[in-house]
Amino acid sequence: MARHHVVVIGSGFGGLFTAKALKRADVDVTLISRTTHHLFQPLLYQVATGILSQGEIAPPTREVLARQKNVRVILGTVDAIDVNAQTVTSHVGGRMTTTKYDSLVVAAGAGQSYFGNDRFAEFAPGMKTIDDALELRGRIFGAFELAELAETEEEVTRHLTFVVVGAGPTGVEMAGQIAELAQRVLRHDFRAINTREARVLLVDAAPQVLPPFGSKLGEVAKKSLEKHGVEVVLGAMVTELDERGVTLAFKDGTTQRVESACKVWAAGVQANPLTQTLSAQTGAPLDRAGRISVNPDLTLPGYPEIFVIGDMMALDNLPGVAQVAIQGAKYSAKTIVRRVEGKDPLKPFKYFDKGSMATISRFSAVVLVGKLRVSGFLAWLMWLVLHLVYLTGFKNRMTALGHWAVSFLGRGRAERTVTEQQVYARRAIQRIQGGTKALASSPEEWNRVRLALEQQAAEQARLTDEQQRGVPTNT
Ligand SMILES: Cc1cc2nc3c(=O)[nH]c(=O)nc-3n(C[C@H](O)[C@H](O)[C@H](O)COP(=O)(O)OP(=O)(O)OC[C@H]3O[C@@H](n4cnc5c(N)ncnc54)[C@H](O)[C@@H]3O)c2cc1C
Repeated sequence: MARHHVVVIGSGFGGLFTAKALKRADVDVTLISRTTHHLFQPLLYQVATGILSQGEIAPPTREVLARQKNVRVILGTVDAIDVNAQTVTSHVGGRMTTTKYDSLVVAAGAGQSYFGNDRFAEFAPGMKTIDDALELRGRIFGAFELAELAETEEEVTRHLTFVVVGAGPTGVEMAGQIAELAQRVLRHDFRAINTREARVLLVDAAPQVLPPFGSKLGEVAKKSLEKHGVEVVLGAMVTELDERGVTLAFKDGTTQRVESACKVWAAGVQANPLTQTLSAQTGAPLDRAGRISVNPDLTLPGYPEIFVIGDMMALDNLPGVAQVAIQGAKYSAKTIVRRVEGKDPLKPFKYFDKGSMATISRFSAVVLVGKLRVSGFLAWLMWLVLHLVYLTGFKNRMTALGHWAVSFLGRGRAERTVTEQQVYARRAIQRIQGGTKALASSPEEWNRVRLALEQQAAEQARLTDEQQRGVPTNT
């Protein structure tokens, strides 16, 4: 008789940890992912700013799972899930593959959201993939190169003005690192420009930095960023973004144009569109970020064989962080094993919050663990140890440690290689595929988005301040 077949979609934290947790189970596993690697997203900003190489944060999934004989890894983008036929259809390079499942674990993550302004993507890449990080690396180091060649003051200023949109952990880390490049790393490398005159703006429509860390740590982070040379601009909506800069609109109706060649979009998150097909077939509702509501055992209503985990699931206000995906993966795997073994079901999924952290610059970070708030050097040390532990693979840990020594103890950046293709390929591909979406947006639309962002930030801070995360909301 054929063994129980588990299909896992995605090789991120949710997908990889599901497959690993089924190592000793009497099941066959097929892991389907659109990338050949497992991506450690929390360190993408270090690839973008030349600290780490892409290989260090993105080991091949096939290699990670090579010794686990009950897993088959296949490359493909899943476009269709048929919940009644229990099949998943994926494609790669014109080849279509349909895979049948007994249990399905969907962990396809989330993408960037430009809040309806998809045209911004052309000039402000997000930070979700290796391609994004390499493009940003090219744009950031390229901006200094172009400033060196610029013939007017205005041109120099435009190339030396960096705008990071979104003051969540990714935006904070990016802004901190770009400031460090300008202030410390690159300061002896140019002749015509003074890199220390660079401006780094961290812009957000919300009234605080790092809402998920609560109001107190948000304030600490803001002050620390400012000390490191970042201009924090809060309550500012980006209403226009083009090749030459951004337009910011403030609540009092005023607007400000900032000329900037290099923009980074670290603002919004939208769950993978596979939630839409699952919602249409199962009736499970989607939230504002496109995440699908799951039962307390992480399955879809009426479909106990389908688990949705990580950034795609909506449950009890849990945040889109790696630990939610990892713990969801282990829980789903355990549930599947118990079913196969004919054992009683587990108690509902309960998230154990191990804390959150964000680095601001070298030797400076903020950490939130339960009611404990730590900032500064101690927080940075905690960040260092934890990221070493969680990086996948011994080889990667060793080389990352070496690169961190180069960057943090010294003044260097081990990975400064950039190519023209990194910067232009994405836009070229988009044009071949029919151009970027040119959605028109209006002031009414900006105000609607602003209100939603303010409410979202206030809610994030409240959930943290009142310790409400992971507390069951289902009655
Ligand atoms: C820049 C950045 C920094 C972050 N920093 C932190 C941090 O410091 N701490 C923290 O806890 N969390 C952080 N996060 C969030 C954390 O990375 C996510 O919560 C976590 O990765 C979610 O895991 P997941 O498995 O749901 O999705 P992901 O890890 O995103 O994995 C999704 C997988 O699905 C694959 N996939 C997508 N679509 C398809 C498809 N159609 N078919 C097949 N495969 C598909 C992708 O290739 C990928 O392998 C950060 C995220 C980003 C983007």
